[in-house]
Amino acid sequence: MDTAASEPVLSVREVRKHYGAFQAVNGVSFAVAPGECFGLLGPNGAGKTTTIHMIYGFSPATSGSIHVFGQDIRTGFRRIRAQLGICQQGNTLDPDLSVLENLLVFAGYFGIPRREAEIRANELLAFFALEAKKRFQYAELSGGMARRLMLARAIINRPRLLILDEPTTGLDPQSRNTLWDRLLDLKRQGLTILLTTHAMEEAERFCDRLCIIDHGQVAAEGEPARLVAAHAGSHALEVESPEAAMAEHLAAAGVRFDRSGRRLIVYGPDKAALVALRERFCAESGFIRAATLEDVFLRLTGRELRE
Ligand code: ATP
Repeated sequence: MDTAASEPVLSVREVRKHYGAFQAVNGVSFAVAPGECFGLLGPNGAGKTTTIHMIYGFSPATSGSIHVFGQDIRTGFRRIRAQLGICQQGNTLDPDLSVLENLLVFAGYFGIPRREAEIRANELLAFFALEAKKRFQYAELSGGMARRLMLARAIINRPRLLILDEPTTGLDPQSRNTLWDRLLDLKRQGLTILLTTHAMEEAERFCDRLCIIDHGQVAAEGEPARLVAAHAGSHALEVESPEAAMAEHLAAAGVRFDRSGRRLIVYGPDKAALVALRERFCAESGFIRAATLEDVFLRLTGRELRE
């Protein structure tokens, strides 16, 4: 077996970040294999950005260890940084530069010679459908174009690991889909990707594996479909403001259910049992749907991802 190939690209062990008495990240561990797309999924304030800030050297961990490409970030950060691509949550493009110049200047930080930088920049502008905008200033771009340019800039150094902090937050559905298509292309090319998101659809669509993070801790880790099967089953019966008799029946029968606001949600591996419950208690208002990651989150934390 080729141990070098199977060695994790990223290994995070028992990492903590404290701001005074506040514990933003509280003992997070996970590993990302080569070619894998790994997600950190959690609500606002869960500690996702803080975790990746520590991975890409933006702020040091209070304790724990982080290895990227097998090297400790405390000692090998310069070598590691040269092979990282980072796309931050906020817009960090230079407003005084054109689209093309944003890419060329950034390439300069990695010591990429000018001619090579121009070749790469033009390839990336084509890949991200920004060729027609290459002389535009950043202020003349739409939000979706700016995000594509951020992503193009993040990979101009041909990184081995791409880190994306909420890549599609704030984009309209069309821009989000365009960006997702490009990300899927990069994934198919074998790029290892770490992304944070609070969008369930993004996590299910991209992530081979993910960690659900809440209050700075890992609530669950695994392949999205396995997490759903293990924690929520295959289907859920959802009903708005059910009669008290329904909850009483479920409690007496020892069937677990969750509440979210006025909604009551029953999960089950057995759809027929849910259909029977609906017929009995909520034939009009209840509906049965496939179980999702959001259900997993609700089950594990008692809260919804959407906040
Ligand atoms: P979002 O989805 O909103 O980006 P997140 O999961 O990325 O959320 P973080 O940005 O990592 O969450 O924040 C985790 C917690 O740490 C929050 O309560 C935040 O207020 C706190 N926090 C982050 N940075 C600092 C800081 N510099 N000083 C004090 N507290 C901080």
